[in-house]
Amino acid sequence: MREPVLVPRLRPFTSTVFAEMTALAVRHDAVNLGQGFPDTDGPAGMLEQAKDSLFGGDNQYPPGPGRPELRAAIARHRQRYGTSYDPDTEVLVTAGATEAIAAALLALTEAGDEVIVVEPYYDSYAAAVAMAGAQRRVIGLTEAGDGRLELDLDAFRAAITPRTRAVLLNSPHNPTGTVFSREQLTEVARLCVEHDLIAITDEVYEHLVFDGSEHVPLATLPGMRTRTVAISSAGKTFNCTGWKIGWVCASPELVAAVKAAKQFITFVSGGPLQPAVAYALEHELDWVEGLRRDLQEKRDRLSAGLADAGFDVRPSFGTYFVTADVRPLGFSDAAELAWALPERVGVAAVPVQVFTDHPDEWKYLLRFAFCKQNEVIDEAVGRLRKLG
Ligand SMILES: *Cc1c(COP(=O)(O)O)cnc(C)c1O
Repeated sequence: MREPVLVPRLRPFTSTVFAEMTALAVRHDAVNLGQGFPDTDGPAGMLEQAKDSLFGGDNQYPPGPGRPELRAAIARHRQRYGTSYDPDTEVLVTAGATEAIAAALLALTEAGDEVIVVEPYYDSYAAAVAMAGAQRRVIGLTEAGDGRLELDLDAFRAAITPRTRAVLLNSPHNPTGTVFSREQLTEVARLCVEHDLIAITDEVYEHLVFDGSEHVPLATLPGMRTRTVAISSAGKTFNCTGWKIGWVCASPELVAAVKAAKQFITFVSGGPLQPAVAYALEHELDWVEGLRRDLQEKRDRLSAGLADAGFDVRPSFGTYFVTADVRPLGFSDAAELAWALPERVGVAAVPVQVFTDHPDEWKYLLRFAFCKQNEVIDEAVGRLRKLG
């Protein structure tokens, strides 16, 4: 056989840092704050619904666009931002946000097109752009006066070319925990309209914002309703990351396009889980508010612990994550430290540079997940104290 067998455009994506770091964590019995998944279950009412569906005979293919009660619940949920979507033509249920992002890129971009991506970026973005055959144009974040990371809007403007087709934006932002302001997003919207760009927005942490920060969906800003593919998912909102129930809200034209790709990737998924997510969107938002408050406390707990252990902790305003600079502890490369950490003190974390095209610019930050039980956070902090 011709070697290597993998096509060139996917060669950079053969392994994920999460798989490698988790294997290392297991080998050294480390507390794993690397991968962002919660270690407690979602709302009991939602789990009961799923059980009823599984034993109630709901085990065959759901409709291609998703179960109607779920599409209706998604559209109603989206009204919290003041935008209404027609559940029949403007909502599509997907196999998690990940499939929604990949299907949107496959349907809307191709060879010769450029997609603006913000680094550090969620790890599936670069691979999904590559699968579509498009090129990513990476822009960075800059630090505002209060230590908050913001979009580099000058870099954004400079990255737009006649080939730019789409911008892929994630807020609340993984891995940094920043939340883009209405002011900044308004300028993004203006540029999208001016240059006729499609926006693909990854909003999976839409509910998980802290300290009164506001999640502003780009689609709610002037001119964006018709050119935004808004993506979210049940995984982070209802502590069910293994369910992979996600969705797209967009204009009928954009939804039809994304569906054209999606229907030949998975066609459908998670049939018996879809009514449970519909139930949760309708009845469990109080539970989600409790989760949000809980996560805010966990953020404080882990941030204080990391500072105590000697890290320079950066502010986090949302998501599951906080980042910390390793330099005060005498290290000059967070990746080197991350690979040594499980064996050295029994903790796993992820270096932010693996989510970038410019590792040198992001060399000093480690990402820690705080979506864990307090005892787990405390154990990790206790172990990290030995570093100093
Ligand atoms: C977890 C996560 C996803 C994936 O969502 P799924 O619904 O599990 O596919 C997408 N984007 C970001 C930023 C995430 O953190």
